Amino acid sequence: MFEKVLIANRGEIALRIQRACREMGIKTVAVYSEADAEAKYVRLADEAVCIGPAPSAKSYLHVPSIIAAAEVTDAEAIHPGYGFLSENADFAERVENSGFVFIGPRPETIRLMGDKVSAKDAMKAAGVPCVPGSDGALGEDMDEWKRMARDIGYPIIIKAAGGGGGRGMRVVHTEAALIQSVQMTQNEAGSAFGNPTVYMEKYLGNPRHIEIQILSDEHGNAVHLGERDCSMQRRHQKVLEEAPAPGLETKLRNKIGERCAEACRQIGYRGAGTFEFLYEDGEFFFIEMNTRVQVEHPVTEYITGVDIVQETIRIAAGLPLSIKQKDVHFKGHAIECRINAEDPKKFVPSPGRITLYHAPGGPGVRVDSHVYQNYYVPPHYDSMIGKLITYGATRQQAIARMRIALSEMIVEGIKTNIPLHQDLLVDQAFLDGGLSIHYLEQKLGLNKH
Ligand code: ADP
Repeated sequence: MFEKVLIANRGEIALRIQRACREMGIKTVAVYSEADAEAKYVRLADEAVCIGPAPSAKSYLHVPSIIAAAEVTDAEAIHPGYGFLSENADFAERVENSGFVFIGPRPETIRLMGDKVSAKDAMKAAGVPCVPGSDGALGEDMDEWKRMARDIGYPIIIKAAGGGGGRGMRVVHTEAALIQSVQMTQNEAGSAFGNPTVYMEKYLGNPRHIEIQILSDEHGNAVHLGERDCSMQRRHQKVLEEAPAPGLETKLRNKIGERCAEACRQIGYRGAGTFEFLYEDGEFFFIEMNTRVQVEHPVTEYITGVDIVQETIRIAAGLPLSIKQKDVHFKGHAIECRINAEDPKKFVPSPGRITLYHAPGGPGVRVDSHVYQNYYVPPHYDSMIGKLITYGATRQQAIARMRIALSEMIVEGIKTNIPLHQDLLVDQAFLDGGLSIHYLEQKLGLNKH
């Protein structure tokens, strides 16, 4: 096992990885920007290195500073967390070429999955069901675009091969709007992701977002840890997640889960990963794979008892998975609310000083957050200040505990989206479960009137 790991991230996930390392007896190195000098995980780390000023381009995304920090502290491996450089194949390559272990998939795998067109091709070849659409990227022939869209059937969605974070997508309802929509998406993708390649998919009208968590080691073992339902989204960004997905049959779960695990064995996947699907009328359609630990991993940890972050470290150290598929049992229900520093109605970020802070507690309550009273939420990064996760024997109990936890949680001095979660957790349609990815936006739209 490693003696020392550098954590190339910030916020709650930096603290989460640090806790996993400490439990495993591994020393930690925190890297931080000038804006994060006071952070909890920086103080708790065995060593800490300032890697630059607040803007992430000059710190958390600045590869030479991170490699230099690993060199001066003699770390053996680098954990990238999520966001920032976690899905950057060039970074993974630089880490390995500099003699460190990258805690994640091989650079080739990250590159393959980072391009949604090649990812879909690879998954199709591995027998994973995909959303019907163009066979690969769109070429230059506009008549061909029209033919394809007619074959697929409107509405369709144009998506950027290099897109992420819910950006680079455009829905097209009629042929009259097609050409201009493709060109606009190409232009936006070129400037936002440095890659103008786009492709076409059937636009599913009322799907749920259901994803499968997998773990795969270098010894040919791969397991799935079941699914998460992440349908509660705003602007294609997840707001609340749960596991298992309400109403999903065991047989279907096992079938799609085993498909994903088998795909990992076929491509020699290394590490933790998530297969994202749209689910409609009992069918799964692959949309993309995330080659890293996800924000919402705790709900899966709760219902399986598997520590996903520790497994990523074990896999990177060359150890076999500590579990086999037959050891994975699903028990109870877990829900996660992402707590953001933002206006609960207008959604504008609300950075600033937290003047009063009380975290909730009690049975089945987990708080993954790096903030504390008097912590200053910097304006430079993602607005998520933590995650509140509850567990119950049933979905009902997990929801009841979440309501209590939200009512106990006090964050003053900044605005948060806690009221939005409280609203959702008493919404009858949500309580019934199984809603589509459009529900939350529809509800928010209705609320305006
Ligand atoms: P990103 O990498 O930006 O997260 P995804 O491909 O994962 O992009 O899609 C994000 C979200 O966009 C999905 O969860 C879903 O809400 C919506 N979406 C993507 N593809 C389709 C589709 N073919 N039909 C309907 N909605 C889609």
